[in-house]
Amino acid sequence: MLGEPIPIEGVDELIALRRDLHAHPELAFAEHRTSAIVACELAALGIEVHRHVGGTGVVGLLRAGSSDRRIGLRADMDALPMSEATDLPYASRYSGMFHGCGHDGHTTMLIGAARLLAATRRFDGTVVFIFQPAEEGRAGAKAMIDDGLFERFGCDRIFALHNWPQLPVGTLGTRTGPIMAAADRFEIALSGRGGHAALPHLADDVLLAASRIVLSLNTIVSRRLDAAAQAVLSVTRVEGGTSHNVLPATARIGGTARSFDPAVRDVLETTLRAIVAAQCAEGSLSADITYDRYYPATRNDAGAARAALAAGRDCGINAIEADSPSFASEDFAFMLEACPGAYVWLGQGRGADEPPLHHPRYDFNDDVIPLGVAWFAALAERELAA
Ligand SMILES: [Zn+2]
Ligand SMILES: [Zn+2]
Repeated sequence: MLGEPIPIEGVDELIALRRDLHAHPELAFAEHRTSAIVACELAALGIEVHRHVGGTGVVGLLRAGSSDRRIGLRADMDALPMSEATDLPYASRYSGMFHGCGHDGHTTMLIGAARLLAATRRFDGTVVFIFQPAEEGRAGAKAMIDDGLFERFGCDRIFALHNWPQLPVGTLGTRTGPIMAAADRFEIALSGRGGHAALPHLADDVLLAASRIVLSLNTIVSRRLDAAAQAVLSVTRVEGGTSHNVLPATARIGGTARSFDPAVRDVLETTLRAIVAAQCAEGSLSADITYDRYYPATRNDAGAARAALAAGRDCGINAIEADSPSFASEDFAFMLEACPGAYVWLGQGRGADEPPLHHPRYDFNDDVIPLGVAWFAALAERELAA
């Protein structure tokens, strides 16, 4: 049996480590304490450690046997720029920084897997442990790739997990093809002649144009895309005006668009630009549009997804094929563009009132630590079977 459960005393130590990381969250590219702890843990296991890969990223190389096969296992280390609203004894010590996405748990589980694999070494090849910075909107995965991650440390296949509150503890889900969405953000700055609110015929009404644009943007998915296409476009911010009797000269609209298919992504952007241009032409306004395609879709390789599910079954996890992808996004997408692999959801749900990811009362569920450790280790042993 591969990936047997790690000893209970090992789990207690890992829970203590997870809670220490939780109490000391660090934001994107500032994971100095966290990456130092990771480097220390790996070095103590006799693992070859490389620091400062893509900023605060850490890579560890663990070799056994003589094969030149290599598997990459990745965890993210960063926290969110938001405040925690729990009264846990290990709650964040800092306001405006919070492990609200469970990356403290991901880092802990990959350290646990390093401990287990370093102790057992039941594989033939090299395990590449990848601890990345800045997953939350800052593309730390891309920073590591741009810093030579795959040229320097090469991987045949690469894997990552994310804790998933919507799935129960003991369940792991993944799928072939897209599992997380491509994420775009847009910012539309409108400008025209402002003026007196009592004399609108002498001014340009940017707020009226902004309102029409918001309505039209909400018809892109329902009226401009094939009904079978999968996409979301949400306007999340509208700003403009300072007084009841002034027609402002500027207004801003912001939001996000999510998709899986590059052709659909193109339609979202070109249609948004056309809607804004048409509205500006009608009202003699000008617009400055920033459309940022910040994360691609996360796409699993079919063979890697099967291996990820099989590794789950190896360690007694209920491993299931997910019906549909999530519209959330994930910068592991960049790594999967560079190297085949798979991303999985590890269930951590405790019931119907489980706070979702990014909620101020969210907390990583320590019950899943042994499962994540066992899954990472079983996967390494399966991919690098002696
Ligand atoms: Zn997150
Ligand atoms: Zn996350």
